[in-house]
Amino acid sequence: MSTFRDSIASIPGAVTNFISESASTASSYLQGQTTPTRSTPTPSTSTTEETINSSNTVHNDKSLPIPASLVKEQWRLIFSSDANAQDLEAAIAHCRDLVLLSEECSDERRWLVRHLVDLRYALKELQEAQAGPNETFSTVKTVVGHHFVVHQRTRRAVRYYCDFCTGIIWSVVQTSYICSDCNYLAHQKCVDSVIRICAHVIASERQYPIAEICPEIGLAAQRYKCAECATLLNFKHAWIEPRLCDYNGLYYCPPCHWNDNSIIPARVIHNWDFAPRKVSRASLQEINLFLDKPLVKLEEANPKLFVFLEKLCTIKKIRQNLVYMRKYLIECRLAMEEKLIDNQIGIRRHLIQSNEFYSIHDLEETENGTLMEFLSKVFNNFNRHIRNCSMCTAKAYICEICSNCEVIYPFDDGCIICDKCNSIYHRVCLTRKKMLCPKCIRFQNRKIQLQQNENDNNED
Ligand SMILES: [Zn+2]
Ligand SMILES: [Zn+2]
Ligand SMILES: [Zn+2]
Ligand SMILES: [Zn+2]
Ligand SMILES: [Zn+2]
Ligand SMILES: [Zn+2]
Repeated sequence: MSTFRDSIASIPGAVTNFISESASTASSYLQGQTTPTRSTPTPSTSTTEETINSSNTVHNDKSLPIPASLVKEQWRLIFSSDANAQDLEAAIAHCRDLVLLSEECSDERRWLVRHLVDLRYALKELQEAQAGPNETFSTVKTVVGHHFVVHQRTRRAVRYYCDFCTGIIWSVVQTSYICSDCNYLAHQKCVDSVIRICAHVIASERQYPIAEICPEIGLAAQRYKCAECATLLNFKHAWIEPRLCDYNGLYYCPPCHWNDNSIIPARVIHNWDFAPRKVSRASLQEINLFLDKPLVKLEEANPKLFVFLEKLCTIKKIRQNLVYMRKYLIECRLAMEEKLIDNQIGIRRHLIQSNEFYSIHDLEETENGTLMEFLSKVFNNFNRHIRNCSMCTAKAYICEICSNCEVIYPFDDGCIICDKCNSIYHRVCLTRKKMLCPKCIRFQNRKIQLQQNENDNNED
């Protein structure tokens, strides 16, 4: 069902054809005689523009923009998914009045007649939903890997759509279920028919987002079938047009591909390209599960990037410094007591555990500058603690090459740490020593000496 263009556009194919093919039949809706029935839940022409999950526009040739002259009436004609039957009846009555007042063959009339059809259809669905069984299953229901729990509506005035049948979810009268792992949302009546395997299962099997850029195999290789529901696709009809998913390179039918836009991990990693591309519902749910996971060893995957992008080098450097700082903080009782690390870094611990792994989200924030801002703040707070804490300052170093009594830390600018013995020197001092760590040399010499002594003893 649908209201109008900018609110929803998921008229079932049959209904849409019906509307566009015959205005006269449609006008019989004025008298409320015919009621279209939805034969199968799948084939809706197109989808949504403001679903909770999708952010972009969807084209729908069947829907018309509201004529300017009707904009002022819009509040009496539009309904949201928490509308009740009275709201819809009032909207229908008002819409019918406007039809009678409108000029014949005008844009207004055309729009109103279509809208009236939509309203009637919506009312019918709503009444059916109200009449239907509404028993709920108590806790968690598992279907093809999903863990469905009752969906608690969090945002009013947001339309929620069923991932299975693409229909609107009438939250006042319909129970819906959401997968606690991947956010798949479905009507209660649809839950048992779900065919899409939970994105969480797919993501855990894959372990890493698809690494090739849009690995397309072609429609013929797919035998012109939707990669998810196997609906036969063709370009002649909008409701079964093939839609390419830029993430996995497969073609989908419109009910399985809502033209959602998403960042594509492979494009980010290989091309530093953050432009959103169109993806299927399944891919969107999968990508969303990968976004915050620190899985990308960026320097290994694309070493040149660090040469070209100064901001990446800066991030790498500050993360390395935070790794050094973390070593101080996890050994400091005071820092642990005030939960300094948790308070500063929250769940993004990977950022200070090493400087190798990035999540796609980290990379996005590297590009827009927010990660640097965040890490600088963390750096300043850690720095303040370490320099003012008696336990941490006790572990500061003094450069033994110059024996200057200034205390130094591995995260100080101009200092360098020996990766063998962890001693810290001024970079200039160590350069003077041809980068040979004096402490390591002493160790080496002592070892040789000991070996020598042992050999001498054996000979005696
Ligand atoms: Zn449904
Ligand atoms: Zn799921
Ligand atoms: Zn499909
Ligand atoms: Zn401390
Ligand atoms: Zn020095
Ligand atoms: Zn050393």
